Amino acid sequence: MTNPLIPAAAESRADIERLRLRTQLFIDGSLRDAAGGERFTSVNPATGKPLAEVAKGGPADVDTAVAAARRAADDGRWSRLDPAERKAILIRWANLIEANGRELGLIETLDAGKPITDTVGLDMPETATCIRWHAEAADKLYGQVAPSPEGTVATITREPLGVVGAVIPWNYPAQMAAWKLGPALATGNTVVIKPASNTSLSLLRIAELATEAGLPDGVLNVVTGPGEVVGEAIGRHPDLDGLAFTGSTEVGRRFLHYSAESNLKRVMLELGGKSPQLVFGDVTDFEQVAENIAIAIFWNMGENCSAGSRLIVHRAVKDRILEALDAELDNWPVGDPLDPATKLGPMISRGQMDKVLGYVDIGKREGARVVCGGERILEETGGWFVPPTVFDHVRNDMTIAREEIFGPVLSVIEFDTEAEAVALANDTPYGLASSLYTRDLNVAHRVARNLQAGVVAVNCYSEGDMTTPFGGYKLSGFGGHDKSIHAHDQYTETKTIWIQLDQAK
Ligand code: NDP
Repeated sequence: MTNPLIPAAAESRADIERLRLRTQLFIDGSLRDAAGGERFTSVNPATGKPLAEVAKGGPADVDTAVAAARRAADDGRWSRLDPAERKAILIRWANLIEANGRELGLIETLDAGKPITDTVGLDMPETATCIRWHAEAADKLYGQVAPSPEGTVATITREPLGVVGAVIPWNYPAQMAAWKLGPALATGNTVVIKPASNTSLSLLRIAELATEAGLPDGVLNVVTGPGEVVGEAIGRHPDLDGLAFTGSTEVGRRFLHYSAESNLKRVMLELGGKSPQLVFGDVTDFEQVAENIAIAIFWNMGENCSAGSRLIVHRAVKDRILEALDAELDNWPVGDPLDPATKLGPMISRGQMDKVLGYVDIGKREGARVVCGGERILEETGGWFVPPTVFDHVRNDMTIAREEIFGPVLSVIEFDTEAEAVALANDTPYGLASSLYTRDLNVAHRVARNLQAGVVAVNCYSEGDMTTPFGGYKLSGFGGHDKSIHAHDQYTETKTIWIQLDQAK
C-alpha cells in the first residue's frame, strides 16, 4: 500500500528548488554564525556533491550556548512553568514537526541519504510522536510520600538536572535528537545539543520550529561543528549537569573521561551493538522470518546500532532460510533515496563505505564466503552505495562477527543446540538488541531470559515502541535508557524533603 505522505521523486525535486536550509548555530532562540565565522561542508551522500556550508562552532560557541541554557534554567522560565503549559508547548512543537514532515524528511534524505519513504513516512512522524509522548507525561508525574515515622512527613520528588548536553549520531538524526530532547525537556531541563557533522540540517530546522511552538529562548540550543572540538567542549563543560550520548563505543568512553576530568556530570551512553538473530530449527514460515531478518540488518543501510548483524541459525533450516532471504532481497532496491521505491540509499560517507568494504575484505580473508553483495555499486552516481551483503560460513570469532560494521552486512553462523545458540549470541562484547524465532513457547521464554541484551524480540524484529525502554548491556552503554517513562529518570534528580512536625499542644 502506498503512503500518500510520500512525494514522488519529481515532486521532491521541485521541493528542492524551494528549500531553504538553516545552516547557522541555534542559540538563545535564534540562528547565528559561529563566533569564529568558520563553516564546513555537508555533502549529499547520494551524489557525493556539496549540499550546504554549515556553521563550524567552537568552544566559545559552546560557552555561549551553555550560558543561555543556564540563564533559562536558573530563572525557571521552563522548569517552573506550569507542567500543563510545558506539555502544551511541546505538543505544539510535535504538531509543527508533523505538519512540516515533508520538508524535514527531504532535508534528512538529502543530508543523510536515507530513503524518502523512511524519512517522510517514519522518521519525522516518529520524531513528532516521541516529543508528544514525553510531553503528555509532563503533567502526569507524581512524587511520593514515604512511610516515615509518626510526627514526620517525608516527600520524594524529582527535579530537573538543570542543563543537559547531548551529542548525537548521523544514522537517525531527527529521531535521536527527539529521544534525548523529549524526556530532557518534558522534565524541565534546558539543553545544548550537537548533531553529527554529517547530518546537522534537520535539527536546525526542528529547533526553529520549537521557537514557533513557544519554547522559551535559551531552553534549546544547537551547536554544530566537529566532535573533537564541539563534542569535547560539551563533554568537558563545567556548567553542564548531565550528558546524553549516542554513537560509537570509542567516543562513549571519551565522555566518561570528559566527565571524570571536569565536573562529574552524569553521563548516559547508548553505544554500539553486534546483535544476534536466532532462528531455531522448528520455524516453518521461512518467507516471513526472512523478511524480518532483512529488516533487522538492512534497514537504514545497516547503519543501525541495533542492527541484527549476526544470523545464528539452526543447521537444519539454514539453507531454507538463506533461499528465502535471497528471494526477499528482490524487495530491497538500492538507489536514489528520492525515489519512493528505494529501500536502501547510500552509506553516510565515503569513509563509512570504505570501512564497510574493508570489513568485507577482512571477512573474505578470514575464510567466510560472500553469498551476495560485497562490492560498491552505482559508482556513476557519485554516491556511496553498498548493496545487501550476506556472508555464509562465518565463525563467531571472526572479525566480521565481533566488530560493529554499521553497514548492510550479515554474518551467518550455524548452531546445533539451544545451549550453543545462546552461548554464541552472548559471546560478544555488546548487548543492545536481539531477536529469536521459534514456534516453541518454552524455547522462546528460556532463550529470551538467557540473552544478554536490552531488548529481545520474539518472532519479529522490534525495538519496541515509545512505551518501552531502549538501552544496552555490556559495551552497548549504561547510565539510562532512551524512550518510555524510564527515560525521565536519568534527566531528573531525586529529592527527599524530611519534615519534623511539632508535638500537638
Ligand atoms: P562517533 O561516535 O564518532 O560520532 C557520534 C557523535 O559523537 C557525533 O556527533 C560526533 O561528532 C561526536 N564525536 C566524535 N568524536 C568526538 C569526540 N572526540 N568527543 C566528543 N564527541 C565526538 O561515530 P561516527 O559518526 O564516527 O561513526 C563511527 C562508528 O561509530 C560507526 O561506524 C559505527 O560503528 C558507530 N556508530 C554507532 C552509532 C550508534 O547509534 N550506536 C551511531 C553512529 C556511529 P562529528 O559528527 O562531528 O564527528
